[in-house]
Amino acid sequence: MNKPLELKELIIHKEQLAKRLRQETSGEVMTDIASRGRYATDASIYQAMPVAVFVPKTAEDIANAIQIAAELKVPVLARGGGTSQCGQTTGAALVIDNSKYFRSTVDLNLDKGTVDVEPGMVLDHLNASLKQHGLWFPVDVSTAGQATIGGMAGNNSCGSRSIAYGNMVHNVLGIDAWLANGQIAQFGNYANSSGAAKQLGDFVKGLADKLHPEIEAHFPKVLRRVAGYNLDVFHPQSELPYTQDGSVNLSHLLVGSEGTLAYFKSLKLKLAPLPQHKVLGVVNFASFFKAMDSAQHIVKLGPTAVELVDRTMIDLARSNPSFKKTIETALIDPHSQTPEAILLVEFSGESHAPLLEKLKSLQDLMGDLGLPGSVVPMSDANSQKNLWEVRKAGLNIMMSLKGDGKPVSFIEDCAVPLESLAEYTQALTDVFAKYGSRGTWYAHASVGTLHVRPILDMRRDGAAKMRAVAEEASELVRKYKGAYSGEHGDGLCRGEWISWQFGPKITEALTEIKHAFDSKGLFNPGKIIDPPKMDDSSYFRYPPSYKVIPLQPALDWSAWNVQNNPVTEETSAPGTGGDPAMGLAKAVEMCNNNGHCRKFDAEVMCPSYRVTRDEKHLTRGRANTLRLALSNQLDVKDESPLGSDAVKEVMELCVSCKACRRECPTGVDMAKMKIEFLAAYKKRVGHSLRDMAVAYLPQYASIISNTPGLAALLNLRNHIAPIAKLQEWLMGISAQRSLPTWRSRTFWSNKKQVAAHHFTPDQLNTPNQQGNKGVVLLADTFNAYFENENLQAALKVLKEAGYRVHIPQKNKAENKTKPTNTCSKEFCCGRTYLAAGMVDQAKETLGELVDHLAPYAEKGIPIIGLEPSCLFTLKDEALVMGFGERAITVSKHAQLLEEFLASEAKVGKLNLNLKAATRPVLFHGHCHQKSFAAVTPAMELLKLIPGAEPKLIESSCCGMAGSFGYEAEHIEVSKQMAELSLLPTIRKSPDSWVVADGTSCRHQIHDGTQRDAVHIAQILAAHL
Ligand SMILES: Cc1cc2nc3c(=O)[nH]c(=O)nc-3n(C[C@H](O)[C@H](O)[C@H](O)COP(=O)(O)OP(=O)(O)OC[C@H]3O[C@@H](n4cnc5c(N)ncnc54)[C@H](O)[C@@H]3O)c2cc1C
Ligand code: SF4
Ligand code: SF4
Repeated sequence: MNKPLELKELIIHKEQLAKRLRQETSGEVMTDIASRGRYATDASIYQAMPVAVFVPKTAEDIANAIQIAAELKVPVLARGGGTSQCGQTTGAALVIDNSKYFRSTVDLNLDKGTVDVEPGMVLDHLNASLKQHGLWFPVDVSTAGQATIGGMAGNNSCGSRSIAYGNMVHNVLGIDAWLANGQIAQFGNYANSSGAAKQLGDFVKGLADKLHPEIEAHFPKVLRRVAGYNLDVFHPQSELPYTQDGSVNLSHLLVGSEGTLAYFKSLKLKLAPLPQHKVLGVVNFASFFKAMDSAQHIVKLGPTAVELVDRTMIDLARSNPSFKKTIETALIDPHSQTPEAILLVEFSGESHAPLLEKLKSLQDLMGDLGLPGSVVPMSDANSQKNLWEVRKAGLNIMMSLKGDGKPVSFIEDCAVPLESLAEYTQALTDVFAKYGSRGTWYAHASVGTLHVRPILDMRRDGAAKMRAVAEEASELVRKYKGAYSGEHGDGLCRGEWISWQFGPKITEALTEIKHAFDSKGLFNPGKIIDPPKMDDSSYFRYPPSYKVIPLQPALDWSAWNVQNNPVTEETSAPGTGGDPAMGLAKAVEMCNNNGHCRKFDAEVMCPSYRVTRDEKHLTRGRANTLRLALSNQLDVKDESPLGSDAVKEVMELCVSCKACRRECPTGVDMAKMKIEFLAAYKKRVGHSLRDMAVAYLPQYASIISNTPGLAALLNLRNHIAPIAKLQEWLMGISAQRSLPTWRSRTFWSNKKQVAAHHFTPDQLNTPNQQGNKGVVLLADTFNAYFENENLQAALKVLKEAGYRVHIPQKNKAENKTKPTNTCSKEFCCGRTYLAAGMVDQAKETLGELVDHLAPYAEKGIPIIGLEPSCLFTLKDEALVMGFGERAITVSKHAQLLEEFLASEAKVGKLNLNLKAATRPVLFHGHCHQKSFAAVTPAMELLKLIPGAEPKLIESSCCGMAGSFGYEAEHIEVSKQMAELSLLPTIRKSPDSWVVADGTSCRHQIHDGTQRDAVHIAQILAAHL
């Protein structure tokens, strides 16, 4: 086999490769270092710079790219979601991303129960399309929202229900693939095969027959063995037969080949009937050993899944507000000590009654095993679904640990026979202790594959400890006759263990298979055959040489600047982590590349990816680019890598929706990182006229409203197209957009009303006749100057409910004692400054507001806002601006109008007589409202309107995102975001009220549907 090219040679070929790809294909070609860097990692500890990245648009593009790469001797690495855990999707190669354009169903055969799909099809998307037919593809990996069928086949992936359905190898019926010589071969039933597939099959059969005794001796007899190539297709060793009729299917040779043998063009899959009914029995154990020992007995009852969650993970889930309630439904007694482990035992079938009998058998069995009353029965589908979500989030819950030490995946899917599971887990726990670490156990008890990751610091002594633990773990796997690689594949991490597992003869045979398929070593070299050592630090993402550049961030990131204790998982004090970027780098490094942000579910993350499907417009792509910038790997000429053009490119479409802050399992907070980028970038390039117009709007708004005739003059822009065009040319504000209408009569014009809403903290703290204390209501710039009716409605509602209202306004003394850079009398949250990267100005303005509010907050007085983006600045950015305790106190009392009213209603204190609704109600949540879990209160409040039956619009970001949607260069993307689901849902319901709290959301709705959405205050006021 040809030796892979050295890096230097690959670089020489890079330009030629890119040139030919651009000339001879229609795909997207990327050779810049940032783009390559974004494809240099998967969800493993490894990193390798691709030679180039190619996103093909047609099958011809792929065929041409393979041929061009072969001619130039550049390796080819196929990629799906890039969620592999062992480094199999990293390599110095031409990386070809299937996930953007190859995601269609090629053929669905309902009679045969099969489907043919392109390799970039995501599992969840396939299953969503199959649901209407009562079918599903049952290899239910935890990454179902991101994993592609090509990647799943590449890794021979396995789901939670593999005990019932098997792994990918048991469910793939055929693969059409490009071979290294560019030919397409059809791999399927061996007996019916022909051409290249038959020749290759015959060759492998020859090897398998010759090595039959070796195969018998060295292939572990467990379901979960994914190491090497499936040489045993001809003499099956898996607990579950590869095919139902005992025939040989040649596509199974490609399953688990990690892109090293051929490039999949399409895959034929076996579908299963979607189970009509499911029940869950959650067994609580006071002893971990007992839980492991019981698994072997439980599987005899015929469950479809037996999944473990250990005490550490239960405790982590209990301490996480999103999971606490759900995990406690699984406990026998949520008020007593957390059990050492729980096993989630699922039974499914066509009808409900037999499943309840199974549940009863489980209870009886546990009684027989000495644990009567240890099962929580769960037959309700919703409760089961919620609990499975917590189980699926298991790894991510663990990975949210801050500090350099991280739970590292390298022995986390060894599979052992169930009789030995208890002894194996006990012995491995002792090994961890010996090396000063600890493992958290979870996952597939049914098939003896438990996930466990010791916490290691790869920048320091992690590699040595990894080696030591791996050696000892392998001894245990051998002792218990298990499989070392039982789920996540070989990649860079387990390649060297293939020969350990199978011995020299089979290893040699695997090399011969590779040679027969790919004699020149084109496809994904260094995986499965000739792998490097797992602890070769030149492949690490964080090698000991990894250095962060010293940097003073604009915000306070000290909460991330910590180290952790690998045994107790406790973190050191904020600011003690030794990060030269003062915590910013560590916050960025929280991204472990798991790819969860590639989701398309009902939540929000990540709007820019949802419309572009580009890695660079994805939270992960942004975090990787920032990591490369902060560790000086981008080779930028600019003064500050953080403010470089490479970072600008990825931040361009980030709408600062804050969804990742909540939905990214490790809490990567890109909206705050964008503020850091903007501060650094604008420092380098200066502020544009548009930046100034946006940033200073709260300051000049009063001048415009108070200057006679000026408001009307400026509004002409919305009616005279050439003015809008001129503005677009001068300032980059899209002429396609209407701008908010200036008014000469604003909230602040009514001096009498404003004066009537001035109360001291003490005055508000004294209950009135109705027994109510007062509240503070923020008159933000947008509602005060452009939509005063919202403030008036809020005042009306609050007064009707019996609250006195203080509206913050700077008094003369405040204006005098604290000179500001502004001429405004009104307070402001500083949001518009943050949008322009003017952090100092934002700190000054927000600091004034926090100072004013702190005495009210200290008395426990609710601080109510109407505009989500303004209100949540008090709960979010204000906490990282160095304001100290006063900001924390204010943040605890800051809430949206609906949060306040809904909480008052819950305790029976809300006195509002609301009239019945005459129209249906649709509600759209602002992204920041969703990020801070403030949508539920809005829905609860709307339900107080008799007969309203409000419906939540399941939408991501509306696409307006402050000034984003007004910007000429972003208008198209902005519209696409809105068209994903928000606008179509509104159009389908022409008679409804549309309620949206965000001023820019309302604007987008108006521009896109010509419908007037209202603030929640308005719909409440209208029903008084
Ligand atoms: C949090 C988390 C949870 C996980 N849970 C599970 C789990 O429950 N079960 C499980 O089995 N795995 C799990 N994994 C691992 C991973 O998600 C799966 O292996 C997944 O199936 C990989 O899919 P992908 O699209 O990301 O593949 P990628 O990582 O992109 O690719 C995987 C392999 O397939 C090859 N490949 C991709 N496309 C092609 C093609 N067209 N032709 C030839 N080869 C190709 C690649 O070269 C690579 O070697 C988990 C990972 C994470 C981060
Ligand atoms: S940003 Fe978050 S969700 Fe996306 S890959 Fe990184 S850790 Fe996962
Ligand atoms: S803030 Fe929103 S747009 Fe930006 S990365 Fe996060 S989810 Fe994506």
